[in-house]
Amino acid sequence: MKITDLLQEIKECQFTFEILPPLKGQKAQEIFDNLDPLMEFKPPFIDVTYHREETIYKRLDNGLLQEKVVRKRPGTVGICAAIMHRYDTETVPHVLCGGFSKEETENLLIDLNFLGIENVVALRGDQAKHESYFTPHREGNAFAIDLVRQIKDLNQGNYLDEDLQNTMSTNFCIGVAGYPEKHFEAPSLNTDIEHLKAKVEAGADYIVTQLFFDNSKYFAFVDKCRAAGITVPIIPGLKPLSTKRQLSILPQIFHVDIPDELVIQAIKCKDNAQVKQLGIEWCIQQSKELRDAGVPVLHYYSMGKSHNIYEIASAIF
Ligand code: FAD
Repeated sequence: MKITDLLQEIKECQFTFEILPPLKGQKAQEIFDNLDPLMEFKPPFIDVTYHREETIYKRLDNGLLQEKVVRKRPGTVGICAAIMHRYDTETVPHVLCGGFSKEETENLLIDLNFLGIENVVALRGDQAKHESYFTPHREGNAFAIDLVRQIKDLNQGNYLDEDLQNTMSTNFCIGVAGYPEKHFEAPSLNTDIEHLKAKVEAGADYIVTQLFFDNSKYFAFVDKCRAAGITVPIIPGLKPLSTKRQLSILPQIFHVDIPDELVIQAIKCKDNAQVKQLGIEWCIQQSKELRDAGVPVLHYYSMGKSHNIYEIASAIF
């Protein structure tokens, strides 16, 4: 079922979340062990992230460095299919521009279609670890909007090979990313919202936000999007703080602010067990306020750990 149809049916705020596929060499069972308790809250869908290739350097016995291209977390498609099979719930794989040719993307979308997956989140992806700036694959999509257009084309039966006849059309519902605190490369929030609007005009059906710790930023973002003419659902993304180290890591990776009140309380914590509890309580307050404001879905970034998300879901759903 399409996320947009699900959202229309929803009467009370629902619990959804995002997971990462396992690291290469790890069992799918570890994912299921994390998911099992969360399924009690009947998530209508679960997102699974995609991870681009990385270039690593291995020192050889002769002292030379060997360059290797590796994908540390493959398996997004397989995990999506396994979750659908095991729990009978919708899965939403993320699809990236970075590191993929349009041909590879088309083949991935065909696989997803054959598996009965009807929803994807279309993303540009970040720069590769060895790059300073994002560089698209030379035969790939440069921005998420280009990927949205490719998916829309496939939804109309238009493949890259124009000579194909009597083609099957896919029927993907497309989510895209939005940034209440601005994407870090955008010169201003207004410019970023204009780019977001262009993604919606190109065919995106809904938006999922970057994580945030201050609801006023989400509410202001939604207001700005609406004023700019963006009418699609905007699903808030939440992540509970769980370690002191995240006070510096989260702003660095996700380019988000952590409110002073939360920072001060986290610094006072004696250990990470206390920080985790603080993060749970903060996230419960955020969730309650968002739920009471009428958002149809709360989307949690579980990062593969379910304990704190379980505590939050128990208090809200
Ligand atoms: P875009 O929408 O392409 O925007 C990127 C930047 O380009 C923005 O600054 C935008 O303002 C600007 N821009 C857009 N169009 C134009 C234009 N025409 N001209 C000039 N500038 C333009 N990363 C992963 O690797 N895997 C994942 O699974 C993943 N999941 C995510 C899920 C969510 C909900 C979010 C919020 C992020 C996720 N990311 C993921 C991270 C994401 O890939 C990065 O934030 C990335 O840097 C931007 O992706 P985007 O799709 O927002 O890019």
